[in-house]
This record gives sequence, structure tokens and C-alpha cells, in this order.
Amino acid sequence: AVAGPKVIIVGAGMSGISAAKTLSDAGIKDILILEATDRIGGRMRKASFAGLKVEVGANWVEGVNGLEMNPIWEMANKLHLRQFISDFRNISSNTYKDNGGVYLRSEVDKVIEEADKVKSYGEKLSKSLPLGGHEDISILASQRLKDHVPSTALEMVVDYFNYDYEFAEPPRVTSLQNTVPLPTFANFGKEAYFVADQRGFESLVYDLAAQFLRTAKNSSIVDPRLLLGKIVREIRHATSGVTVATEDGSFYNADYVIVSVSIGVLQSKLIKFKPDLPRWKKLAICQFGMSVYTKIFLKFPHRFWPDGEWTQHFLYASERRGYYPVWQHFEKQNPGANVLLVTVTDEESRRIEQQPDSQTKAEAMEVLRNMFGKHIPEATDVLVPKWWSDRFFKGSFSNWPLGVNQYEYDQMRAPIGRVYFTGEHTSKHYNGYVHGAYLAGIDLANMMIKCIKYKTYLTHGIQLAN
Ligand code: FAD
Repeated sequence: AVAGPKVIIVGAGMSGISAAKTLSDAGIKDILILEATDRIGGRMRKASFAGLKVEVGANWVEGVNGLEMNPIWEMANKLHLRQFISDFRNISSNTYKDNGGVYLRSEVDKVIEEADKVKSYGEKLSKSLPLGGHEDISILASQRLKDHVPSTALEMVVDYFNYDYEFAEPPRVTSLQNTVPLPTFANFGKEAYFVADQRGFESLVYDLAAQFLRTAKNSSIVDPRLLLGKIVREIRHATSGVTVATEDGSFYNADYVIVSVSIGVLQSKLIKFKPDLPRWKKLAICQFGMSVYTKIFLKFPHRFWPDGEWTQHFLYASERRGYYPVWQHFEKQNPGANVLLVTVTDEESRRIEQQPDSQTKAEAMEVLRNMFGKHIPEATDVLVPKWWSDRFFKGSFSNWPLGVNQYEYDQMRAPIGRVYFTGEHTSKHYNGYVHGAYLAGIDLANMMIKCIKYKTYLTHGIQLAN
């Protein structure tokens, strides 16, 4: 048999694994996956907390029950993952004032209705903008055009819920043209399902990996083509091939390399390219957005929040935008667990990552006391994931910022010689999501397969001419 090309894949998150599987399915089996951490799954990660398994990274299958089938929904159902539809319609009954008590439902509904009108206007405007993105504006600019700039605590928390809770960056930063309407919901459906399975959302990546990597009886992956704890620090590339160097002093040679690390990691100095990436490529990489989304879990000795179908999500309207704003209880998924989840993003995430968890807990407790009264019990446990400070992630997911047009986006994800790029940030329509990571891996691998075939043909042609 003729030896096929050898391909190194840097990173074993959803995208790296999906690219590797696509190559393997096409007969390119000489692959080597180098993963920095001691596990696969990347930003799909479960953690043990207060006797539960909670998702510190991706949690929802977003975009369900629409015209097209979300491939992640299909995979989750194949594994019978335990998941619950997230119904946010109740939010107007559960919006708390920062000096105690809830807002009148009618008052919140009015603010939501107004925000929805402005959003519909933004959608129409977005669709009318010329393709290519040179007239793109921010979401905030579209709000200004309607003379609607959220300013009260209530308006700000509704605005936060509509945009920051999805993109992890404020409307001031986010591109209107690339996020409103959002292809995930427009194509795959408006619904989102919350995964609450003890195997974790990450089991999707393990299942995918087990379809082409060798596993042991206990289903752990034992294939020598997957190396864990391998921190890639340097990629040397030339027309003849690539050499990848890891922090432990090892070197690996191959014909091609696929880099699947996050855009946050690419923006950092962790991986050095030799020769350096061209300037246009570096500019495009640094221009794209890596946001920070932090899910803080708190455990209590007993429940003090309202229970029932319509109470799962609640908002805290602070005068400080984005201050412990979106809350969720787990009574439905884990009755009696007495666990709350609060989400912060962006500047608040960065601030919180730099302070002791005890301080974060104290802040969250103060907010809860504002909502539910002084008598509530102190949290017994707190979990604060730190995606931003983690050198293997440098944030949570990409967000399309104002100022990046289609051309620059294509530059950001374009291959350089034998170096190819995948990852959620390279998904044309679904950047930021698990399905984006999955689909980007497949697309990239297929593109690479075509290039490899083309090269083979050329080499063959040259040989014949000689
Ligand atoms: P990653 O998962 O980051 O995989 C890249 C891999 O590369 C990692 O395993 C990393 O360890 C490794 N790596 C990094 N540097 C090196 C190096 N130098 N050498 C070797 N290996 C390296 N998406 C949804 O669809 N729904 C959600 O609800 C959702 N919520 C989210 C909440 C949070 C808090 C976070 C963090 C993400 C969330 N996402 C969500 C986004 C989703 O998790 C990601 O889009 C997706 O998992 C990214 O997959 P990836 O393969 O592109 O990248």
C-alpha cells in the first residue's frame, strides 16, 4: 500500500476530533492528535460539584426544532443525553429589583416588548446591509437608530439577557450583520436544551472519538494516535513538511498540521510559528473577538428560592450592568440539590477571575440577600471556572465583533501553506457554538482532503514531465 500523508491535529476538542474523524473516514489514517490537557473535549467539560456533575463549559444544545437538523441535537439524542428544554417565557415574573422584591410582570413585559421591536428593526436593517460587511454597525448602533438605549436597571438587565447572555460581550462590541438574526436559531430552530447528564455534554466528543480511535474494554481511548499532556509550543512549516515541538521537548514530523486551538490561544504567544504567520493573518486573528462567559455554581443547605415550572430562570436588575444578572435553579434537573447557577460575562468575568472565590461568593450572597432577604443561609460551596486565565483557552467562545468583514474573516481562517486552522471560530455561520466546532472540523478536513489530492496529482504530473 502507498503511505498516505501524515497529519498532526493540535487540540482534541469537538473541532479537532471531528476533523480527525473526517480524515480517518476518508482513508487518511496516519494522524496524530496532540492535546495539551489530560483529557479530550476542550470547552465541553463536566466538573464534580456538591455531589453533582455540572457543566463548566458548553451546556445547551442551541438551535433545535427548526427547519434544519442541528447535528449536535442528533448526536445527543443518539446517546440519550438527559436534557431539558429551557423556557425563558417566565422571566418577566421573576425579575428582581436590587433593593428587594420583584418587578410587576406587566412592567417587565413592556420593556421586553419594546426591546423585541427594536430587535426586529435591527433584523430588517441587518438584512438590508450590503454583503461583505463594509457597512456593518454594532447592535448598539442599531438601537440608537431607534432611539432606544437601555438606561434603567430593568432595561439594562433585559438587554443583557438578550445579547450578553448569548454572545458574552455587550451590544456595543457585537456586529449586527453577523449576529442579528443569528444563523443558529434561524436555521436550526429557536429552542435550546440544557444538558444535565452525569456523563456530561463531553460524552459526545468521546463517542465521536471512539468511532475512529481504538478503545479499551472500559471504553477509555487507548489509541497511540492520541497523545494527552502534549503542549504544542512551536510549529515549523516549510514546503516540504511540518515539525511540531511540544513543551516536554519532543518533536513530531508530518506533512500537514491542523491547529484547532481557540482564537484566544492563537491571539496569545503560546504557539510560535516558524516562519511567523504573515502580517495579514495575524491582524485578522487579533481582530476577532474571544469573549468570556463564567458560570458560577453555588450550593446551599436548603432551598430559599421559589420552586416550580415557571421559576427556573430569574434576573437581578442592578444599576451596574452585568452584575450577577442571570440566575438559574436546578430543581427540575436535580431536585433537592439546592444548587444555583449565576452567569457573568466580559469585564465582570475578568474581574472575578482575579479575585479569591471567597470574595465572589460574598458578592453573590449579597445579591441573593437583596433579592430574597437577609435570613437566607450562606452558600456552603462555590465553583468559579476560570476560562480566561487558562492558557489553553483564554476565554470561552468567539464573538463576531464590529469591524471584521467577510474578507477578514476568511483571512482569519485561511490555511498558510501546510498549516490549516479549525475550531468554533472558523465556522462560517455558527462560530461560538458546539455545532460550529463540529461542522468546521468536517469542512476543514474535506478542504484538506481536496488539497492533498490536488497536490498528489501535481507531483505526479511533474514526475511524468521529468
Ligand atoms: P476547544 O474545545 O477549545 O478545543 C481545543 C483544544 O485544544 C482544547 O482541548 C485545548 O486544551 C487544546 N489546546 C489548546 N492549546 C493547546 C496547545 N498549545 N497544544 C495542544 N493542545 C492545545 N456552545 C454551545 O453550543 N452551547 C453552549 O451552551 C455553550 N456554552 C458555553 C459556555 C462556556 C463557559 C464555554 C467556555 C463555552 C460554551 N460554548 C457553548 C462554546 C463551545 O463549548 C465551544 O464552541 C466548543 O466546545 C469549541 O470546540 P473547539 O474544538 O473549537 O475548541
